[in-house]
This record gives sequence, structure tokens and C-alpha cells, in this order.
Amino acid sequence: MHEHDPIFEQMVDRGHERLCFHHDEETGLKAIVAIHSTTLGNALGGTRRWYYESEEDAIFDVLRLSKGMTYKAAVSGLPMGGAKSVILLPRRDKQRTESEARAMGRFVNTFGGEYIAAEDVGVDIQFIDWMAMETDHVMGGEKVSTGGDPSPWTALGTFHGMRAALLHAGRSESFSGVTVAIQGVGHVGQNLCGLLHEAGAKIVIADIIKAKVDLAVEQFDCEVVHSNDILKTQCDILAPCALGNVIDGTMVEHLRCSILCGASNNILGDRGDITVDLKTAGIVYAPDFVVNAGGLIHLAGLHLGMTSEQLQQKNNEIFDTTVRILEDGEETTSTYAAAVGLAKRRIAGGETQCYAN
Ligand code: NAD
Repeated sequence: MHEHDPIFEQMVDRGHERLCFHHDEETGLKAIVAIHSTTLGNALGGTRRWYYESEEDAIFDVLRLSKGMTYKAAVSGLPMGGAKSVILLPRRDKQRTESEARAMGRFVNTFGGEYIAAEDVGVDIQFIDWMAMETDHVMGGEKVSTGGDPSPWTALGTFHGMRAALLHAGRSESFSGVTVAIQGVGHVGQNLCGLLHEAGAKIVIADIIKAKVDLAVEQFDCEVVHSNDILKTQCDILAPCALGNVIDGTMVEHLRCSILCGASNNILGDRGDITVDLKTAGIVYAPDFVVNAGGLIHLAGLHLGMTSEQLQQKNNEIFDTTVRILEDGEETTSTYAAAVGLAKRRIAGGETQCYAN
């Protein structure tokens, strides 16, 4: 699929149900909600605030991301569908405002709960709480809505994914003597550093913002490399936790890791076939939408009424799911294919567990 393809062609190809555009005259808000699937339930997915070079880019992004949310929810065994929204910023440095957030909240409210918004790039707890002043269908705030910052849960799930990948690669699941290279020490990356530091791993980091690097070094005794070099760093586990689309076909031969397991969405871009190259290169790839589901599990779980024990248990399940997918990946073309296969079987058969009280 290409961003220049006709919109309906893109929707049909990816299997989308709805793509909805909204303009708010008062604030100038321009936003899009893409609902990929509601087969398993209402769909929770983040709202991304981003400056896109073109409307085509924004549409491509929201279609791609929302489909990923369907797979993420299904593979996690949640009775939820998949959706995502984007706010098209008029310029890169446009600061968030209450009126913008409230306008977005009113847009979200028109879906009557079929779409539930949450944090994504450019949207923080405050923005969520402003949105929540206009709609009940939002998660991840602290004062007006609930859930808070999901990134500690995302980091924990990614950590479980790493444990599973170590076992699969024939190592012990202990992190002693294990080097983990992390690209991006933002919300998820910092929390991941904390878990790895506690577990005894050697941590190598890079970030384009010096203050974030300094914060991680101060607390977690990390080694620092330049952000241009982090993906090619010699390590046991490479963990992209910055942006998507960081590993393309040409990059595989430069990787010096035995495991690829990070929190970024769409680490391999839209190219699931790169996982075949990774397999050929002997690199264990723990699919991103499997290991980074901790944040979704936390917010969706709260929304569904799970108790804190159930939430913890569901996050722990990321370990078992990753083990299963890495094993299934041996029998099929790749671990990515195995993960998509599991998600599709669950969507077709309703093989999820419901925790609603
Ligand atoms: P964040 O914005 O807090 O952190 C990203 C960090 O990456 C920032 O510190 C940024 O400076 C750094 N960065 C950007 N470009 C870089 C580069 N080229 N090299 C090195 N560092 C770079 O975001 P986050 O919430 O920590 O999320 C990280 C990734 O995980 C994102 O791709 C996000 O979509 C994904 N993700 C996050 C969550 C969550 O709960 N926050 C859940 C699922 C997936």
C-alpha cells in the first residue's frame, strides 16, 4: 500500500470499517478518526498530534496505526477492536491548547463509545483530561478521566517480551551479562532503563535530546552512543523506543544484535516481510505489537473493569504470548506472520477473554 493510492482502495486493502474527518470552525481543529475493526468490541487507540507534510501522509498514518491497534488488542486477548486518531497540526511547533483538546473531545464523543481515545505522540495527560471534559470515551487522564500515563506498563510488557526472547534464543531469562541498546529514552525508554537496571543488564542508550540522556545516565548507569550509531551497536537486545519505521531492508545486514525487541510501533515500517530477512540473519524478532501492548492492556483493562490483579496478570501474559509467537515463528515464514496469524484467528473466532465485572 502507498500513501498515493485512492483512499477507498487503502481502506479495502487494510480492511477498515470507517475513516472520519472533522473540522472545528471555532478552533480550526482538523482531525481524523480511523476505526479499523470493531469485530471484538469497541476500539481504544491513541490520538496523535503531528505536523504532516500532506493530508495523504496523515491518512496513511492513521490507517496504518489503527490496523496495528486491532492486531495489538486481539493478540493480547482483549475484547476490543482497533482504532486511532490524528490531529493535523498547522505547523510543527503548535502548542497544545484546552480549546483544541475540547474540540477533539467533542469529535470523539460523536462515536458514542465505539472509539475511545488515549495518549499518543504529542498528547499528554493534561490533553486527555481536557478532552474528557467533553466526552466519557477517553482514557489516560488523571483528574477528569482515569488511567494516567500508560508508558510504565508499556515498558513492563516490553521487558516481559525481552525475557521471552532471551529464553527463545537459548539464553537464561536473567539479564545478568546481557547488553540492551535502547534507541530513545523518553517515557517508555526511561521506564525500561529502570527495569533493566534493576535486573542487572548493561544498558546502552541514545537520544536526540541531551536532557533525556543525562536523566537516564544519572539514574541507571547507562553507556551513551550517538543516535546515528545506536541501531548498529553491538548488543544482545536492540530496543527501538523512539520512532517507527527505523529498520528497513537495507538495515538488517548492519544490525549487531541477536534479539530485536522494542516498544516503538511499526519498527519495520509497513514491511512485515523484513522479518523473513531477520530470521535468515539469525535475529530473533519479538513483534512490536505483541511486546508493546502493556499500555493498551492497562487502559483498555481499566475501561473494561479489570481489577489491579487482573491488569498485572494480563501484562504478565505478554511473556507467554511472546514465547508462543516466537515458537510459532519457527514453523511459519516469520514471527511477524505468526503474530498476525494469531490475531486474525482470534478476530475470526472470538478467542478473547472478557474481564468486565
Ligand atoms: P516519547 O516521545 O516520550 O519518547 C521518544 C524518545 O525518542 C524521545 O526522548 C525522543 O527525543 C527520542 N528520539 C526521537 N528520535 C530519535 C532518534 N532518531 N534517535 C534517538 N532518540 C530519538 O515516546 P514514548 O511514549 O516513550 O514512546 C516511544 C515509542 O513507543 C513510540 O514509538 C510510541 O509510539 C511507542 N509506544 C508507546 C507507548 C506508550 O505507552 N507510551 C505504547 C505503545 C507504543
